[in-house]
Amino acid sequence: MKKSINILSKEVINQIAAGEVIQRPASIVKELIENSIDAGAKKIEIIIKDAGKTLVQLIDDGIGMNNQDATICFQKHTTSKIKNITDVMSISTMGFRGEALASISSIAKVELKTKREEDEIGTLIHIENSIMNKNLKVAISKGTSIAVKNLFFNVPARKKFLKSDRIEMKHILEVFMQLSIANCEIEFKLNDDSKTLHHLKATNLKQRIIQLFGSRYNQKILPIKEETSIVSINGFIGNPFDAKKTRGEQFLYVNNRFIKSSYLNHAVKNSMHNIITNDQHPSYFIFLSVDPKTIDVNIHPNKTEIKFEDEKSIYQILKSACKKPIGMYNITPSLDFTTEESFEIPIDIQKSTPKEPKIKINSDFNPFLEKNEQLNKKTPVSLNLDSKYPEINIINCMNIDENYGLFTFIANNSISCNLIDKKRALERIIYETTLTQLSSKKFLSQNLLYPIKLDVNISDLQIIENYRDKIEKVGYKFRTTSDKNLEITSTPTGIENNDIQDLFECFIEELKTGNINIEQNIIDKTIIKITHNKYRKSKSINSVDNKELKSIITKLLNCKTPFIGINGQPCVINIEPNIIFNN
Ligand code: ADP
Ligand code: MG
Repeated sequence: MKKSINILSKEVINQIAAGEVIQRPASIVKELIENSIDAGAKKIEIIIKDAGKTLVQLIDDGIGMNNQDATICFQKHTTSKIKNITDVMSISTMGFRGEALASISSIAKVELKTKREEDEIGTLIHIENSIMNKNLKVAISKGTSIAVKNLFFNVPARKKFLKSDRIEMKHILEVFMQLSIANCEIEFKLNDDSKTLHHLKATNLKQRIIQLFGSRYNQKILPIKEETSIVSINGFIGNPFDAKKTRGEQFLYVNNRFIKSSYLNHAVKNSMHNIITNDQHPSYFIFLSVDPKTIDVNIHPNKTEIKFEDEKSIYQILKSACKKPIGMYNITPSLDFTTEESFEIPIDIQKSTPKEPKIKINSDFNPFLEKNEQLNKKTPVSLNLDSKYPEINIINCMNIDENYGLFTFIANNSISCNLIDKKRALERIIYETTLTQLSSKKFLSQNLLYPIKLDVNISDLQIIENYRDKIEKVGYKFRTTSDKNLEITSTPTGIENNDIQDLFECFIEELKTGNINIEQNIIDKTIIKITHNKYRKSKSINSVDNKELKSIITKLLNCKTPFIGINGQPCVINIEPNIIFNN
């Protein structure tokens, strides 16, 4: 077949280029909001119809454009934001390629209304298929309104790729959240098919989070702040006790630009090491600010990745910044953030409870403190989670059922009444005893009768080899076979054969992050496995009598982290009768 070379028409070139910038309605929402922010808007209203497929309209009160600018802003490479390449390097505005409006107008029908403060009269422009077919004077107030209608009306092939309204709306909401969190001093309104989904008044960051995610976030988030010469950090992290199994609210910004970074996500997660489990995801709203010269932002408008010059230090600083408030604010877990999923109440008990009693919980209660200190609730108490009870005097304890027990004890002259989850308590005790035994005697290793072959690919094999000494220190021994397989020949005592594949997969994931705490995490994962194995073999916790329960509690209170189970959920909940019964 004879091939012939065609020169593409300008129209087609524009449409192809538009595909890079505008993939879906959410991309339009993002570009238009960013333009409004750059135009100094204090109030931005977004109107969506049919998940943006029929209409995305944005109305702002920013500086607006005069007639001449309004006429040319839809042309390619028109921007008021950069003039030369040095500007590109130092740019602080949101979008800066002068491409968004040109792209949008090549794949949708656009109506622009705009007026500057100083102009008498505003401009109305209609543009379709990149062709302007209306340019009129209109009387409007200062600011800009851009309505983008019938997205991809002229590119049916792309229109076909749009997802269901529900999914497209989810993308719009994501963009809306990313930008409204980073710009809390701006008022935002989001209307979807004439329903107001969000109306966020100008406020501070904490209140913006609460506006978006509900007032329960008031207690759920802890502030973080750190200033170093490499990076300044501020924002909020979710209380680790609320961490979810599904990736929830994770917002990370660098110089106020939303980014995704699995590496830094790992830093936050790692700061909650021992409090949350591997499959739980912390929430966070974190703003890093760094010298723009030390980062490499991929300037493609849809890319959210970033490279740091000094990634490892930023990892460490972020991790320690997140660690601080966890030690400071999380004292004993209190009922309000444990009832839902972590501390399951057996169904039959739930049923027989006619009405939820009104319980006032002192979430600041801290059995470590003197009574007079308890009263001073406003100041966050600095508490070393690692400290032990100075002197434990258990007054009373009893089994409630197979899973739970109640106990009271005296610490520092005040009586504390507590609910205990026996299984989690026992696991915590086994975990800590194993940890001390192993760290004092070093890791004991057992040779396997039959080496175990593991299924790993060549690049993973290389990773494992690179960290051989760290893994062997913990008591594993392995070799690479001639046919490039991994063969485990020894494991730490307490690890069982069928744990190995799972453990090594975890190690590889861990090693891939390049995280500095690798050794600690390998030890931890190993000990958690040993704990589960020992727990399985121990006497059933369901049948302990009150005397045995007392010994469990004593051991638990002597642990370094007595209140938190090894999976990150509470094992003791403090219930303060004084407060509950309003005495
Ligand atoms: P960029 O944002 O990269 O400059 P755009 O195509 O998004 O490119 O916008 C082109 C130009 O149109 C902007 O530089 C700005 O001068 C003008 N503009 C766009 N939106 C607005 C707005 N909401 N208010 C005022 N001016 C705007
Ligand atoms: Mg722009």
